[in-house]
Amino acid sequence: MFNYSAPESLLTGRVILVTGAGSGIGRAAAIGYAKAGATVILLGRTTEKLEAVYDEIENAGYPEPAMVPLNLDTAGEAAYVQLADMIDSEFGRLDGILHNASLLGQRTPLESYDPVTFEQVMRVNVNAGFLLTQALLPLIKQSEDASIIFTSSSVGRKGRAYWGAYAISKFATEGMMQTLADEYENSGKIRVNCINPGATRTQMRAYAYPAEDPQTIATPEDIQPVYLYLMGPDSKGVTGQSIDAQGMDSPAHYS
Ligand code: NDP
Repeated sequence: MFNYSAPESLLTGRVILVTGAGSGIGRAAAIGYAKAGATVILLGRTTEKLEAVYDEIENAGYPEPAMVPLNLDTAGEAAYVQLADMIDSEFGRLDGILHNASLLGQRTPLESYDPVTFEQVMRVNVNAGFLLTQALLPLIKQSEDASIIFTSSSVGRKGRAYWGAYAISKFATEGMMQTLADEYENSGKIRVNCINPGATRTQMRAYAYPAEDPQTIATPEDIQPVYLYLMGPDSKGVTGQSIDAQGMDSPAHYS
């Protein structure tokens, strides 16, 4: 596992948006960020799931979060601008974005891949990340220490048979991260990186590997060290990287 132990108040005073915050890795990251002192904006498709995470954060006594039910498949440009306006008027700042929501799509050869599903996966996994980032950049640029994290996958670094649109979307995600990181490299205030979670016990993983015993793989909570490291000030200056959550690296490797 990435070797980092976060100080208790790592994210105190920061406002952080997490997509796909209702379940899986996004849920664990949202709770982890709130525990570290951040006000977390929980964005997701299913309101009940967001409500459950909201309650969990509130009951634990962490800073009160906010909920944004939004379907990244159907949201248009206007919805993202509206979101940015809401964050500006409610919080007046935004210090971090975790782009975590994704669709798996079909596990089938490209030859027989359903074109409608292909477009849907690209909309959620790629287009939404672009639109959301573009709308939120004016707020992010006002932060003295901002972090944008995209979520990649091993199939986004080397293509693999039958991973279809998902693999292609993760290559695009790596490209978006690198392009944005390069554009802001000299700002000194905005870092942009990818996390590759590795095999993690979630619904998506169970769907992709139905025969696997979930008890044999990491939980979303286990992989949080790198999510905290990249979101907090200890990673200042680290940008354009794609880091394995379950790799053996430590912050020293990136400083
Ligand atoms: P889950 O399927 O468990 O969670 C995905 C989250 O994304 C859910 O909260 C889901 O919301 C949300 N989401 C999906 N579609 C939309 C949409 N149209 N609009 C808004 N929200 C949406 O996946 P994981 O937690 O496993 O995955 C998290 C990230 O990690 C993904 O980017 C995935 O590609 C990546 N990853 C995961 C690995 C693993 O082993 N688990 C390995 C490598 C990468 P809802 O619950 O409401 O459907």
